This record gives sequence, C-alpha cells and structure tokens, in this order.
Amino acid sequence: MIVRLLTYTEDADAICAAAGRSCYSKESSADLLGKGEPEKTLGKIVGMGHHSVIEHASFTFSVEGVSRALTHQLVRHRIASFSQQSQRYVSINEPTFVIPRTIQADDEALAVYEKIMGDIWNAYSELEKRIPAEDARYVLPNGCTTNITVTMNARELLHFFSMRCCERAQWEIRDMAEEMLVLCREASPTIFRDAGPPCVRGPCPEGRLSCGRPRKKPPA
Ligand SMILES: Cc1cc2nc3c(=O)[nH]c(=O)nc-3n(C[C@H](O)[C@H](O)[C@H](O)COP(=O)(O)OP(=O)(O)OC[C@H]3O[C@@H](n4cnc5c(N)ncnc54)[C@H](O)[C@@H]3O)c2cc1C
Repeated sequence: MIVRLLTYTEDADAICAAAGRSCYSKESSADLLGKGEPEKTLGKIVGMGHHSVIEHASFTFSVEGVSRALTHQLVRHRIASFSQQSQRYVSINEPTFVIPRTIQADDEALAVYEKIMGDIWNAYSELEKRIPAEDARYVLPNGCTTNITVTMNARELLHFFSMRCCERAQWEIRDMAEEMLVLCREASPTIFRDAGPPCVRGPCPEGRLSCGRPRKKPPA
C-alpha cells in the first residue's frame, strides 16, 4: 500500500481559524487571516464541535496497491470524491492481489490462496481472449489490487478517522486511514490534533463490541 497526500489546502489551520473568527467579527476572513492566535481560536472551535469551518480545508490522496475489499468500504463514505482505476478499460494481465497478514503467516493458507489466485488469473486471461475485459473482470477477486484517488474535506476526514482508525475497523482500511492521518496532521496540526478513534477523545462508544483496550494515544 502506498498512500500519498497529492495536494491540500495550504495554511488550512489559518484559513479555517479566520473563517471561524469572521462569524463574530466586523472584519472579513481576508482581514483576519493570520491575526490573533489562529491555533488557539481554531483548537477551541474544533473542540466545541463547530466543524463547519473546517469544511474549507480539502485534502487529496493517491492510494496505490490496495484491495477492492478496501475500496468497497472506502466509497461508502459519501461526503468525498473518488476516481478509481477501471477494470473495464485497464486489463489486469498479471496477477496482482493483497495478501492478508493472517494468510502470510500460515504456510498452508498461503498455498491455498496463491493457488486460487493463479487459477483465477488463468481463467481471466482465457476469458479476455474471447470477451471484453468488462465481462472477464467478473472472475476477479476482492483481493485484487487497485488504485484510487480520494478527496475529502477536513470535517469528513475527522469523521472518517473516527470510524476507520478504530480497532473495530477492518485492518486494511485502518492501516490506510492511519497513514492518511499522519499526513493530515503534518499538514494541519491544529485541525487534526485530536483526530483518530473516539477513544482518543473520551470513552469508547462501542459498548460490548469495544476492543477493551486502554484509550489510544493520537498518532505522533
Ligand atoms: C466497523 C465498521 C463496520 C461496518 N459494517 C458494515 C456492514 O456490516 N454493512 C454495511 O452496509 N456497512 C458497514 N459499515 C459501513 C458504515 O455503515 C457506513 O456506511 C460507512 O462507514 C460510511 O459512514 P457514514 O455513513 O457515517 O458517513 P459518510 O458517508 O462518510 O457521511 C458522513 C456523515 O454525513 C452525514 N450523512 C451522509 N449522508 C447522509 C444521508 N443520506 N442522510 C443523513 N446524513 C447523512 C452523516 O452524519 C454521516 O455520518 C461498517 C463501518 C465500520 C466502521
């Protein structure tokens, strides 16, 4: 998996702080930009849950080499934009699939997994000689790798990190979310200061489904 932050709103902390202050000021956000104590102002606004101001900050990621099982979960997040490699227009000639750590750690499981992947790609190659790729792809597995471009605003990212950095989230999307959070925190330390699973900020809301581990520290 490779996760890269392609572009983002520069000075997002300062811009969102100025937008927040402009609600209570005669001055415009342009006049307020960089004035006062942007970090303190924004930290307070975000801490109070007034998250509409951080919708002004946008982050675009390139994600490579993840499974279709991951992207199926990712695209359930509706306040986001996605561009995903097409299996209609891109032939997947060589076997390319994610191997879960549980399979990697079990020689027999790995042999079963690699055998079926080989068989699937043999079938795919045969089918592709006869029928369009858009139909041959029906035999491809959930584990097949893909690339996707994702854009979310900071408000959606806080929500996304809350759900997907949690121990209850599936491991592959959690690995990706954690990498995205590290990149976001580098770009906008104030907005993402308390981002992560709910246990970073308070008690776990998962009830009997809780992982039961002590509260998580936000990633550095
Ligand atoms: C651990 C885990 C297990 C899961 N298991 C399943 C499963 O078994 N089956 C399954 O189908 N899904 C499952 N999901 C997916 C989950 O139900 C959500 O579809 C997904 O996480 C997207 O989150 P969301 O709907 O909160 O927010 P997003 O789509 O990211 O939207 C953000 C927020 O915007 C608001 N919003 C967006 N659209 C609407 C709308 N139409 N109406 C009102 N408010 C809206 C909501 O407040 C929402 O929280 C699982 C997710 C997790 C993290």
